[in-house]
Amino acid sequence: MEEVLRGLKAEAEASLHSVSDQVGLEEVRVKYLGRKGLLANAMKQLAQAAPEDRPRLGQLANTVKQDVERLFQAKKEALEAGSQTVKQQLDLSLPGRFIPSGKLHPVTQVMEEICAVFEGMGFAVAEGPDVETDHYNFEALNIPAHHPARDMHDTFYVSDSILLRTHTSPMQARIMEKQEPPLRYIAPGKVYRCDSDITHTPMFHQVEGFLVDRQVSFADLKGVLTLFTRRIFQGDLPLRFRPSFFPFTEPSAEVDIACVICKGSGCRVCKQTGWLEILGAGMIDPAVMKMVGYDPEKFSGFAFGLGVERIAMLKYGIDDIRLYYENDLRFLRQF
Ligand SMILES: [Zn+2]
Repeated sequence: MEEVLRGLKAEAEASLHSVSDQVGLEEVRVKYLGRKGLLANAMKQLAQAAPEDRPRLGQLANTVKQDVERLFQAKKEALEAGSQTVKQQLDLSLPGRFIPSGKLHPVTQVMEEICAVFEGMGFAVAEGPDVETDHYNFEALNIPAHHPARDMHDTFYVSDSILLRTHTSPMQARIMEKQEPPLRYIAPGKVYRCDSDITHTPMFHQVEGFLVDRQVSFADLKGVLTLFTRRIFQGDLPLRFRPSFFPFTEPSAEVDIACVICKGSGCRVCKQTGWLEILGAGMIDPAVMKMVGYDPEKFSGFAFGLGVERIAMLKYGIDDIRLYYENDLRFLRQF
């Protein structure tokens, strides 16, 4: 028994000696001085010693415990003093740690660029909800239930009357019903469609724009879009308006620019046509005007919607839209 106690003391002393931080110190304390520690355990075994040896062994055990406690306290103070010295030795003239800074995602960058171009032309920016009602997403835009145009939208429905917006056009109706013309707005944001391949992702970004005033003509629309493409693609690229159909504009057009890669001579990106489709546009349908209480005889306006990913793909020559959302840093760092 005597040997066990002396052995414990030597062991504890060695352990304390090799401890270098508060965590290690606490481990040693629990191991030797804890309520279920080795010393407590040895004390319990005293009961089994011969009665005549007990007082002597008891005294020894107490001494050992006190010694270990004293050594523990000394080590604790030494460690605390040590960390004080480290603090005092801080050299404030050393350069700081390098913190890598993040950058805006290419889609965000292009989105901001697009907004800046339109803001420069006097358009205000308005944002609306991603979760939209059937009314604003379809009905108010002249797309009643069972209209064949609904099939083109591949809608994510939340319930019968609630859905994830399939375009940013609902903002047209939302703003027009609250304000009187003249209006000049763009509405950037995320839109959702149940579709995925190299040119489609289930979530993508659109910028909707519209202008309502007296005597607004198709020529105004052409002027705004021509200026926009010149700014975004930094060049005087020819534009082409192809007749098209959207339920909320009449007449409607799909707008192409001369291929930014081959400048119109034909390449893989433009499928040898020399043209790239960049947006849809048109004059706001009188039916949409009437639904928000405007007099189509008095006011006219145009609207356009463009895909931000699409513009960014053309601007940077990216051929797979899914690259934007794979979070591959080798791709993202190039912008
Ligand atoms: Zn081309």
